[in-house]
Amino acid sequence: MKKKLVSMILATTMVAATLVGCGNSGSSETAAPAATEEAPAAEEAAPEAEAPAAEEAAPEAEAPAAGGGKIGVAMPTKDLQRWNQDGSNMQKELEAAGYEVDLQYASNDIATQVSQIENMINSGCSLLVIASIEGDSLGTVLEQAKEKNIPVIAYDRLIMNSDAVSYYATFDNYMVGTKQGEYIRDELDLDNAEGPFNIELTTGDPGDNNARFFFGGAMDVLQPYIDEGKLVVKSGQTDFETVATANWATETAQARMDAIISANYADGTQLHACLCSNDSTALGVANSLEANYTGEWPIITGQDCDIASVKNMIAGKQSMSIFKDTRTLASKVVEMVDAIMKGGEAPVNDTETYDNGTGVIPSYLCEPVFADINNYKELLIDSGYYTEADLQ
Ligand code: BGC
Repeated sequence: MKKKLVSMILATTMVAATLVGCGNSGSSETAAPAATEEAPAAEEAAPEAEAPAAEEAAPEAEAPAAGGGKIGVAMPTKDLQRWNQDGSNMQKELEAAGYEVDLQYASNDIATQVSQIENMINSGCSLLVIASIEGDSLGTVLEQAKEKNIPVIAYDRLIMNSDAVSYYATFDNYMVGTKQGEYIRDELDLDNAEGPFNIELTTGDPGDNNARFFFGGAMDVLQPYIDEGKLVVKSGQTDFETVATANWATETAQARMDAIISANYADGTQLHACLCSNDSTALGVANSLEANYTGEWPIITGQDCDIASVKNMIAGKQSMSIFKDTRTLASKVVEMVDAIMKGGEAPVNDTETYDNGTGVIPSYLCEPVFADINNYKELLIDSGYYTEADLQ
């Protein structure tokens, strides 16, 4: 139903776009303002301020045959490595497919993201791809998108309680969590070993819908062992809100772990495993352990294969991460964008899991892959994701 609606909306949008001639190629004023690649300065850049960069920014856009149009890409922050990769991969691929791109980063500030999106809507974007900072904060601004028949793809993070969202593209978030839980289960051999083993839990931002899927997936694997007493959470901190980490911040995860260690493990008590939902929180936990903990190094999980965490993996300070190849997600989203822009339906492979409060959003879920010391070279270096030098 939703998809049909999108096609109808699209047809109207495209006609409207042609009539109004909004922001399409040729007008360097509105073109690709934030096309400044990795330049950190782009975060606060006023959207229109960098228009002259457009010419150099579009070298790959040799094939504007697709009919073009401007696509707004809103990313949460440049603080985390992955979003820089997501943004620049999207930009590269969209430009190669003949689209103009307005890429913006919001420094993890919700008001900034809202105004960036507002700007995209008002400056002629025909479609928005949004990785939200806080899933619940975009309802109002997206009403404007809906009024203008601008389709919205939620990128990686689901935008909640807005019926302006047409599609969702992500990695299978629940599977990320189960893979982390299974890693701990298998490494501690929970089905055979006697235990008990001590574990501490850290997840991500409570406003990020993904965090609940990551944590839920992992706990579906681990909870039975906690219930039978084979896994013990000495801190007693097990509910989502308590183990959440605002903004996924490394320092916040680190400070919480400092307190947990000093209250529970300062006497040399062995900590066997730390479930961490992603790499930025795993880094905080590892930093804290390094500073405060004297026992044998525990298993630590992560996600993203950020360079700092892969280095920690090589150094034995993080046990695993989940590899979510941002090139794969970007390509899939570009495919979705292209299908929608041409008046068709975007490819999806899940129409059940992600209800954003207004109904299930048709989704494309890419498969996350487990990475550790044994396979990281093949996954990350042989595939050209990183060079050896990146990891030194
Ligand atoms: C993403 C993770 C990322 C986290 C922090 C989540 O929404 O799915 O890959 O580690 O945000 O940025």
